[in-house]
Amino acid sequence: MAELLKGKPVVDSMALDLRARIEALGRAKVVPALALVRVGQRPDDLSYERTARKRAESLGIAIRPYELDEFAPQAAIEAAIHEVNRDENVHGCLLFRPLPSFVDESHVCELLDPKKDIDGITLASDGHAGYPPATAAACIQLLDHYQVPLQGKHVVVVGRSLVVGKPVSMMLLRRNASVTICHSKTENLADIMRSADVVICATGRARTFGAQFFGPGQTVLDVGINFDTQGNLCGDVDFAEVEPVVAAITPVPGGIGTVTTSVTMAHTVAAAEAALAARTGRR
Ligand code: NAP
Repeated sequence: MAELLKGKPVVDSMALDLRARIEALGRAKVVPALALVRVGQRPDDLSYERTARKRAESLGIAIRPYELDEFAPQAAIEAAIHEVNRDENVHGCLLFRPLPSFVDESHVCELLDPKKDIDGITLASDGHAGYPPATAAACIQLLDHYQVPLQGKHVVVVGRSLVVGKPVSMMLLRRNASVTICHSKTENLADIMRSADVVICATGRARTFGAQFFGPGQTVLDVGINFDTQGNLCGDVDFAEVEPVVAAITPVPGGIGTVTTSVTMAHTVAAAEAALAARTGRR
């Protein structure tokens, strides 16, 4: 049986660290604050927002909601971002995406002050200075928590989006892993995946990767949050088939998704600390 790499122990250990740092900020009269900019009422946005609010409340992080209706014009969304940039009591901003199709999303993203970009949305712009996307950072946080060796190891990342695949690959390279990025056009995908020490699946394709894609001794991170034909939440990996084959695997739900919200909070706290240090002239 594979070791189950659950998100909860990672979240608990992050909370210990974050509470101490939030207390220290409190002594300097700073309450870390996270703006949530939501356009419309998409069920997955509302669900993530509920989780974020709960996590923020449990830690002592303030939430500043910006709720726009689904037909809000580009100018209104841009005005919300400008307001976030101007408010020195707001340290981080989570913009729910995708924005409606009539909005120039990349322009909105570029407007956000990189110092408040706790979810890597300015990643595509030149000289990106923000934090990495929370999901990519959650993968690294989980691998670190469970002390999965990365240096010199072959990590296969399946998926090349700006939200997960690309940023997590860059972060793994910084850890001296040898990274192969795969996508929908990759040939011999199963052979490549079987050759890895660590596999990260981020495709958004429900239970697509069965036992033939994996081998003994591997660590598998399943980033996918999908619904199967019966409406059940599931990952990209066929857990029932793969779990008996590999050494360690994240469950869905209860794996990476659980850690992502905590990473959002951790980036907000780091942004608040950086703002305080800039104000007081410390580094
Ligand atoms: P995305 O933008 O749709 O990208 C999917 C990537 O997977 C693309 O690069 C695509 O290749 C590749 N792909 C699709 N089908 C494939 C296949 N059969 N074989 C190999 N590669 C394939 O999705 P995303 O935003 O990165 O999200 C991926 C998954 O992560 C989704 O299930 C999403 O819900 C989940 N997610 C989870 C969290 C969390 O907190 N856990 C956060 C964000 C997203 P091409 O580039 O060739 O099209």
